Amino acid sequence: MTDRYAVIGNPVAHSKSPFIHAEFARQTGQDLVYERILAPLEGFRAAVANFRAEGGKGLNVTLPFKLEAFQIANERGPRAQDAAAVNTLKFEGATIYGENTDGVGLVSDIQTNLGFSIEGRDVLLMGAGGAAQGAVGPLLEAQPARLVIANRTLDKAERLAERFRGARGLRVDALTASGYRELAGQQFQIVINSTSASLNDSVPDLPQGVFAHDSLAYDMMYGKGMTPFLELALAQGARQLADGIGMLVEQAAQSFLTWRGVRPETRQVIAALKAA
Ligand code: NDP
Repeated sequence: MTDRYAVIGNPVAHSKSPFIHAEFARQTGQDLVYERILAPLEGFRAAVANFRAEGGKGLNVTLPFKLEAFQIANERGPRAQDAAAVNTLKFEGATIYGENTDGVGLVSDIQTNLGFSIEGRDVLLMGAGGAAQGAVGPLLEAQPARLVIANRTLDKAERLAERFRGARGLRVDALTASGYRELAGQQFQIVINSTSASLNDSVPDLPQGVFAHDSLAYDMMYGKGMTPFLELALAQGARQLADGIGMLVEQAAQSFLTWRGVRPETRQVIAALKAA
């Protein structure tokens, strides 16, 4: 019988996940279908229960349900545990396994696809929302010289950094929280924008000089072409610019691995989405 998977969110019509997973299934010869589920804002649990009852095998979870997905999982992977958020659910008998593949997707894109090693680099992560929560653990695993989390609401960045001080064996001595203004005089080789500012065509108030010569500027936002963040990075001397398409495809590949035990090739799918 063909196995069923889906992406669940609200809104979800824009999601590229059905295209990505159909490509992965074709490429790996896996017998599955992948749908979209629009869950009512108050109806996430019921929609998941319904999908399981119909024999569904797994879900990708997107805004605004990643926290609720964490809560309904009765087994969790280490990255879900670190992030306190789940973007991948796998159903097996009574087990609801939850994992977070967003950060692994980000790190794979930066290191493998873009060829930028994180080890020993100074990394700035802008934003402290859901996407940043998933990114901090895998970024620390890649052993940067330091990781600064900067956020408009400083308190949120501090709480996020604090959470990782207690996380499993991660190197956290180099992890700090900051406001944007306090970054003046500091330089980073990798600057990642995980804020949703690009959605409104704006950019957090970064001081001049934050982008080191030869730096990578990475905007998790995708589908918008040049964002104000990427424009700013270019004007301030960043060498390489990237949007979040690669991360999106890499996190999907990691979910596919969690469900099917095989990791698909991502390059062609990334290229197809970039060309669309
Ligand atoms: P959240 O709503 O959880 O967090 C939003 C963050 O953006 C907060 O830190 C918020 O700061 C900050 N922010 C919003 N507007 C501004 C502004 N004008 N100036 C400064 N800071 C601002 O969103 P997510 O973390 O879930 O998503 C963030 C982005 O990442 C989205 O664009 C999303 O599309 C993208 N994303 C991409 C993925 C991919 O695979 N490529 C995966 C997941 C997300 P404050 O705390 O002060 O409000």
